[in-house]
Amino acid sequence: MEIKKGIPVSHGLAIAPALVLDAQQFTVSARKIKPEEVEHELDLLNKAIQASIKEIEQLRKKIAKKHGEETARIFDFHIAILNDPQVRARMENSIRENHYSAPYAVSVEMRRHVKDFLDIDDSYFRERVKDVYDVDRRLMRHLTGGRKEDLANLDSDVVIVAHDLTPSQTASLDRKHVLAFATDAGGHTSHTAIVARALGIPAVVGLNDITADVSPGDTLIIDGYRGLVIIDPDEATIQETKLKLQEQTEFERALIETRELPAVTRDGVKVTLLGNIEFPHEVEECIRAGAEGVGLYRTEFLYLSREREPSEEEHYQAYVDVLQAAGNKPVVIRTLDLGADKYTQAREPERNPFLGCRSIRFCLRHLDVFKRQLRAILRASVIGKLQIMFPLISQVMELRQAKMILNDVIEDLEEEGIEFKRDIPIGVMIETPAAAIKASFLAKEVDFFSIGTNDLIQYTLAVDRANERVANLYTPADPAVLRLIRDVIRQGNRNEIEVSLCGEMAGQPEFTLLLLGFGLRKFSMAPHSIPEVKKMIRSVTIEQATKVARKVVRLDTDRQISIILKDEARKVLPGLI
Ligand code: PEP
Ligand code: MG
Repeated sequence: MEIKKGIPVSHGLAIAPALVLDAQQFTVSARKIKPEEVEHELDLLNKAIQASIKEIEQLRKKIAKKHGEETARIFDFHIAILNDPQVRARMENSIRENHYSAPYAVSVEMRRHVKDFLDIDDSYFRERVKDVYDVDRRLMRHLTGGRKEDLANLDSDVVIVAHDLTPSQTASLDRKHVLAFATDAGGHTSHTAIVARALGIPAVVGLNDITADVSPGDTLIIDGYRGLVIIDPDEATIQETKLKLQEQTEFERALIETRELPAVTRDGVKVTLLGNIEFPHEVEECIRAGAEGVGLYRTEFLYLSREREPSEEEHYQAYVDVLQAAGNKPVVIRTLDLGADKYTQAREPERNPFLGCRSIRFCLRHLDVFKRQLRAILRASVIGKLQIMFPLISQVMELRQAKMILNDVIEDLEEEGIEFKRDIPIGVMIETPAAAIKASFLAKEVDFFSIGTNDLIQYTLAVDRANERVANLYTPADPAVLRLIRDVIRQGNRNEIEVSLCGEMAGQPEFTLLLLGFGLRKFSMAPHSIPEVKKMIRSVTIEQATKVARKVVRLDTDRQISIILKDEARKVLPGLI
């Protein structure tokens, strides 16, 4: 038995034999053809391209119907590669002039593409490499007449192990038989992780060398809660996991009943639970899960699968869709958080992108991009109850500048006679230690705070949130992080502005008691976490929570804190994993 630790990107637990995907990759030899075979090979290539385009278009349609237009746009890039006249010309020339076989011509061209992308030091292009491999594999399958990758039509339960999964592979996984997946590469914000969460497939990524450690058919346990992969588990571990799976099913069934109930503590204190979304179609899931609104709409995902900047109309339509789906529930629209691990269309490679021109800094330097979004938000404001939130504020001046630009846009709309709401609440994300320490100043200038712990942790502890090599140092339970959170909540409450917390921590029930004890009354999280957190809230009193908070702030290591919080949470909800 061997236990590997990776990054949990999609919750859930699974046990099944491994299907090691990299063992099924196509290998292409440098085969030369005879001059008289050139036409035949060109014909093969053309047919493979046409068949691939058709297949992708069908897949795109299916995904659009099931998961929305935004997710489906991932496939536009694939179609663009196949339709690119230069790409085609180079492959055809390889066949005509070098007398390469069609598969080899494809392989050479795709590898050239990959190399070009890797040479550019930008996460946007690194992410796109997976898409090129995806196109490569699809073409190869048509050219070699190879078996259709069986991932969409399996006949027994498996967990997939791969170096990396492309977004389209993930999207077409057979949900009935693929119980989970684990990959060497990847981070929390990769396309693959996003799609896995949307499909509800448990997943652990960033395992470095899981493909080397696992052989096809090995029994694996994938723990998408803790980011663990257990290879060849012993009998006791298998039994323990099966029991947990049973408990999980019963627990989930019991949670469904909580969805209709209010989030109120046993001593009658009301807590607001909101959902985090990346795409407009996710609002529905939030509401189904019992969210009272959207606490974080990550609008930068509008850029995720487009090859060009979204237009004002595209922004506007997305916001209208979200507001209409939310009905009269509030929606916090976060302005673009582009840069760092979330690429931009205006790609400027940076040496240290997390500390570079990302988020509000990017927007303040690209006013055309920023104003386009603000115009669309203001125009959509008449549809529902929206709030505007600026991300990654670290200086008071940045906030003032952002508000000034918002006022410019308001003036423009007034001049043009375009309707918008005037009393839109404005908030900031507290995601840097600088913002947390200056919370008392910032509170005077905004209507609300939202604590972005995902970034606050990385900047406080100096640990890259997407780097698998330092993932063990990344923890919300560090005393420094907890003190910052406690102080921000205090400052917010003292200044009588709303404070919410929208990082992943909000959806981790072991932190619910502590956050309540710190005085937090508004949580925003991935919709699937809402029932569990609500159940926690309904099972405790504020007195209990305050006691836990007092105990925890006296401790000096994250280990001690984690142990105590898990113990306390299990005392309240024994079904918790
Ligand atoms: C955060 O940093 O906690 C947050 C919610 O924003 P994102 O994860 O999009 O950076
Ligand atoms: Mg953030």
